[in-house]
Amino acid sequence: MEKVILIRYGEIHLKGLNRPYFERALLRNIKKALKDIPNVKVIRAQGRFYVEDYADEAAVIQALTRVFGIVSISPAYKFEKDFEALVKHSKAMIEGLLAGTQNDVLTFKVESRRADKRFPMDSMEISRELGARLLQAFPRLKVDVHHPEAVLNVEMREFCYLYHQSIPCAGGMPVGTNGKAVLLLSGGIDSPAAGWMIAKRGVELTAVHYHSFPYTSDRSKEKVIDLARILAGYNGSLRLHVVPFTRIQQELYEKCPDEQLTVLMRRFMMKIAEEIARKEGAAALITGESIGQVASQTLAGLVVTNDAVSMPIFQPLIGFDKIDIMNLAQSIGTYETSILPYEDCCTVFTPKHPTTHPRLDRIIKSEALVNGEELIREALENTEVIEL
Ligand code: ATP
Ligand code: MG
Repeated sequence: MEKVILIRYGEIHLKGLNRPYFERALLRNIKKALKDIPNVKVIRAQGRFYVEDYADEAAVIQALTRVFGIVSISPAYKFEKDFEALVKHSKAMIEGLLAGTQNDVLTFKVESRRADKRFPMDSMEISRELGARLLQAFPRLKVDVHHPEAVLNVEMREFCYLYHQSIPCAGGMPVGTNGKAVLLLSGGIDSPAAGWMIAKRGVELTAVHYHSFPYTSDRSKEKVIDLARILAGYNGSLRLHVVPFTRIQQELYEKCPDEQLTVLMRRFMMKIAEEIARKEGAAALITGESIGQVASQTLAGLVVTNDAVSMPIFQPLIGFDKIDIMNLAQSIGTYETSILPYEDCCTVFTPKHPTTHPRLDRIIKSEALVNGEELIREALENTEVIEL
């Protein structure tokens, strides 16, 4: 008997030519996610994958729950197709389940599938016979076909697979099957969650962070690197561009009206991100705004900010309440890092009374007061690239 992990992926809209493309990408991403696990093997068979030959099951499971395109996984026993072997391994599995419950009785049922029609018993017979043998062996077991506490799944394929657990995974599409986009990654709660949502649809991320040294500390940069590292777990890997932003903020601060500073800064962020996206072969930008969340995220503010570039800007959290974003951040594992209290570049130069109704013509006039092209070129030249 061997322990394996069975991987299921979505197939609803996977017809024809798309399917091998999707499967190849998923296989590549699974292998990448498991690259640090010694000797591990990933095998493709009959519309699913199996992971074999690993020592650390928990590590494999944790890595797989981050691979987009996987719907669920089941740790399973794999052995020869022999009914007595099935009884033996089922008994071992039930013993484990009984040991884990305080109740006097454990309700269960057996669900069987026979993909290999050469196996002499059909699925009904397997379920019935196995159920009977288990009831005989364990007085604490009771059958409940409607609401069992445990379901023993038997699959007769090229081997026999036996499992009782199905762990839900992230779903979505394999990263890389839907092009590339640049995520504007702050140290906050929202942008990592926004990046996660777009990556989940198969878009490969590259991240950009604007850093205002010495107004923001190295620790605030470290925090963003930590967030990028968590996202890299979903993205396969992640390139982070750390762009020095202080000079731009100082210029705007000296030359432009105070209440416009936030919008002006945000337009520069978009323009620089667009340049980086072009170089990276990315087709869109991603940010973490939600309508009305803060002064700069009024509808008027968003429109004037987004007008700075021609590339599409995806804002997947736009209709989310903060509490929903916080829950999402918690579930993807970024929240605890995001709430660490280091300053970010926008808090340093935040105006006292930011305009909530910026007018594009006035903003463009103010922008002309600084040498934008030169400032952007300089920022790009001094950008640090970190591979995670
Ligand atoms: P977040 O929680 O993502 O920081 P926020 O609610 O603080 O968002 P803003 O500060 O208005 O919102 O920023 C809006 C979006 O602009 C962010 O979600 C992020 O995509 C981008 N952004 C803000 N600051 C930075 C930064 N220093 N570097 C990169 N992107 C940034
Ligand atoms: Mg923020």
